[in-house]
Amino acid sequence: MKSFGCSVCGQILFFDNSRCLRCASELGYAPDSGHLDVVVASDDPSSLLLEGDGTGTHYRRCANQTLAACNWLVPVDDPEHLCVSCRLTTVRPNDAETDALVEFADAETAKRRLIHQLNSLGLDIVGKDADPERGVAFEFRSSDAEDVMTGHDGGVITLDLSESDDVHRERVRHDLGEPYRTVLGHLRHEIGHYYWPRLVVDAGHTDAFRELFGDETVSYQDALDAHYGSGEGPTDATAGTGDAEWVNTHVSEYATMHPWEDWAETFAHYLHIRAGLDTANSFGFVLGEPALTASRDALADHTGVSVGPMVQAWLGTTLVMNAMSRSLGTGNHYPFVLSPTVIEKLDFVHRLVNEVAGPIEEEPSTEVLTVDDV
Ligand SMILES: [Zn+2]
Ligand SMILES: [Zn+2]
Repeated sequence: MKSFGCSVCGQILFFDNSRCLRCASELGYAPDSGHLDVVVASDDPSSLLLEGDGTGTHYRRCANQTLAACNWLVPVDDPEHLCVSCRLTTVRPNDAETDALVEFADAETAKRRLIHQLNSLGLDIVGKDADPERGVAFEFRSSDAEDVMTGHDGGVITLDLSESDDVHRERVRHDLGEPYRTVLGHLRHEIGHYYWPRLVVDAGHTDAFRELFGDETVSYQDALDAHYGSGEGPTDATAGTGDAEWVNTHVSEYATMHPWEDWAETFAHYLHIRAGLDTANSFGFVLGEPALTASRDALADHTGVSVGPMVQAWLGTTLVMNAMSRSLGTGNHYPFVLSPTVIEKLDFVHRLVNEVAGPIEEEPSTEVLTVDDV
């Protein structure tokens, strides 16, 4: 995402912070303007103003400021106590589940990042309170208290809060042989399921979808049984063994299970790329050495609107990210391979998002530096 600066001291602000780390000014985020900055008292003691907001709107803090570590603001004339992100959550742990409440705050923090990104991409998000049929709702439940399966069903996104527990999530990640597993990744995946009927079916792209992702009418239950019952261990795309054939066609092994999962994994990955590239760009850090891992043809922009240049800039950036994380003694920060087929699927998502979202105000720069320029 784009970076924000403290209007008092100039310090770079992180999206999740409620206080400037340098000058300790109190911070707030206004979802309508997508602006994060210092909040100041207004002449009315019951309301706050946001520096640099430019709208003169009077705000109060989201009622989940403490419970969900929420730094978002609500206009004072809004009858809701919760911010537009917090109000999408319909189930949370009860007040006695203290461990789960800490995990809940982590999950809400990841969700705010998701909602901010959907807003900035121009993807409509409406709650089930406003639209019970087509709206979205989040249920954050703890598997310490009940049986919970992370997933999506008819606009209801359920997250097992134990995914916020680093030890638990890392163990599951290892057991499933996944190179990457995060709460934000889960939320980006599940919201992909939510958008599938809107972006694909409603917009009349079902045939084009099936050509790329396969026939989604095949039994999901059979696919699930086959995926988890095959007895074959998962294979790692980045292990370099060359025996993981799915790498040529899918962004993750999980994506091979069913066309719906392929879509959700690809959609989530598209959000990763857009967010990562926005961040890199706002720090002046986009380096696009011609990608070593994808063919030049897949990256060429034949139509002026393809995802190719964006992916090329991203691959150059991730090359540096991975080199950097290895320098610091950790593994690849970006453990993915993007084959030409996967780039084609990302391009499909890119076009469908642009179709509903309209022109993008701030297209991330895809200007490519080469080694000669550096
Ligand atoms: Zn400051
Ligand atoms: Zn909130």
